[in-house]
Amino acid sequence: MKVFKFGGASINSTERIENVAKIIRSYSDEKLFIIISAMGKTTNALEKVAESFFAGNKDEALTLFTQLKEEHLKVAGNLKLPTANLQLNDLFTEVEWLLHDKPVREYDYYYDQIVCLGELLSTAIISSYLNSIDIKNSWIDVRDIVRTDDNFRDAGIDWEFTNDKVAAEILPLLIKNNIVIAQGFIGATDENESTTLGREGSDYSAAIFANMLNAESQTIWKDVEGVMNADPKKFPQATFIDNLSYNEVIEMAYYGAQVIHPKTIKPLQNKGIPLHVRCFLHPELKGTIISNNPVHQLPPIIVVKENQVLMQLNSKDFSFVEDKLVSSLHHLFNEVKIRPNISQNGAISLLCCLDDKPEKIEKLALLASELFDVQVEKGLTLLTIRHYDTDTINKLTSGKKIVLEQKTTETIQVVMK
Ligand code: ASP
Ligand code: MG
Repeated sequence: MKVFKFGGASINSTERIENVAKIIRSYSDEKLFIIISAMGKTTNALEKVAESFFAGNKDEALTLFTQLKEEHLKVAGNLKLPTANLQLNDLFTEVEWLLHDKPVREYDYYYDQIVCLGELLSTAIISSYLNSIDIKNSWIDVRDIVRTDDNFRDAGIDWEFTNDKVAAEILPLLIKNNIVIAQGFIGATDENESTTLGREGSDYSAAIFANMLNAESQTIWKDVEGVMNADPKKFPQATFIDNLSYNEVIEMAYYGAQVIHPKTIKPLQNKGIPLHVRCFLHPELKGTIISNNPVHQLPPIIVVKENQVLMQLNSKDFSFVEDKLVSSLHHLFNEVKIRPNISQNGAISLLCCLDDKPEKIEKLALLASELFDVQVEKGLTLLTIRHYDTDTINKLTSGKKIVLEQKTTETIQVVMK
């Protein structure tokens, strides 16, 4: 049994959906549990609906929602699906009802009730399309399976409940039909409220199911050849990596590489399930395999984070910056809900590099100014190179002003202007 995950870009047009069907058909002698994201940019569009609704702009919310509805019906039409019979209409109604109400609860709650629709629609369309071309499959609403807490927009999984449901409900379906189609990114509370697991959470959902179904592998189908040593949009000479260890991927995600949702690795690593990253445009390619096997001789792996702020915190009266001050600063980070990407302690000063989220930076600087003299420098770039060599460092830092540097045997991080 294999777990597949198809992202939004793999199904953003009729041709791409047909392409996905072709890939699935080529696995006709296997059992597949398939997670599919919302189509294209649907999640962003649903976020706009949620924002308008919450701001009290009911008409705008309904107009935006109608556009989305029409786009989905058009795709269903292109795929020659009998739109009247689809569960689509029930799904639309679920949100339309809500949009006619007035918001009385917190934003994150409404966000989840509205945004969860993207994956329900895409999977409903693709499941009926597959059935219509004789790729028999069962569609499930994972809100009946994936139980979460009510931490809306970043919900935590109830592993025990979900695991029992997977055994009781998904295994029999896989026996019946070989293929089960389900949504990533969403779940529900014990009160049947919809929840989401955080943006890009479908990789993580797929890993949860891979773990609970004891899958032989998980494959994430993307529009790139596999994992590259740098973002090819920024570094056209980026090279493809065929094998990576779970550890390396966790490190890469930690430093900000946008390869795979950071929570994805643990459920797979815990059961030794290999993760394949493959290209849906070139299914003949093998892609990257991520597993427990140690990988030697990796090329330098480059992660760039723009929009960084350096905050310098100097002790007010020349006294040493000791544990107590450091720990009060950590309290402030928690209070403001921000975490430094790097920090460095000196005798009488502390430096930290943070993502530039303006309100948070302002609040942090204000609170910290009670304890320190605070200076803020904006417009910086944080460069991380794993498995660095002098050449790569020189090439990427030449002509830049370096304001902070940290090096271990494996990783160098440079904050520069
Ligand atoms: N559709 C969601 C998002 O765009 C989840 C995902 O695709 O992973 O964030
Ligand atoms: Mg995605």
